[in-house]
Amino acid sequence: MICPLCNALTELKVQCSVCQNECEDKGRAMDYDENYSPYMDYELTALTDGLTKNNSNLFCAHLYYCKHCNDSAIKLIEKI
Ligand SMILES: [Zn+2]
Ligand SMILES: [Zn+2]
Repeated sequence: MICPLCNALTELKVQCSVCQNECEDKGRAMDYDENYSPYMDYELTALTDGLTKNNSNLFCAHLYYCKHCNDSAIKLIEKI
């Protein structure tokens, strides 16, 4: 099982729910756990924790960041 996004097989355009601009893919959310805690709020942390336990081998969590309104969202990418 590999993530199509991590392996550059596909691209996912994510629209910011606030300003409708395109969000940047910041890579796997897991990688941001330690170093980029400003991006992580409680909800985000809970989600990635849940992922680790339950379905991390089925989904890859990507962090999308909107530079316009400084918002971030987690998208679960189905592995192939
Ligand atoms: Zn991935
Ligand atoms: Zn935005």
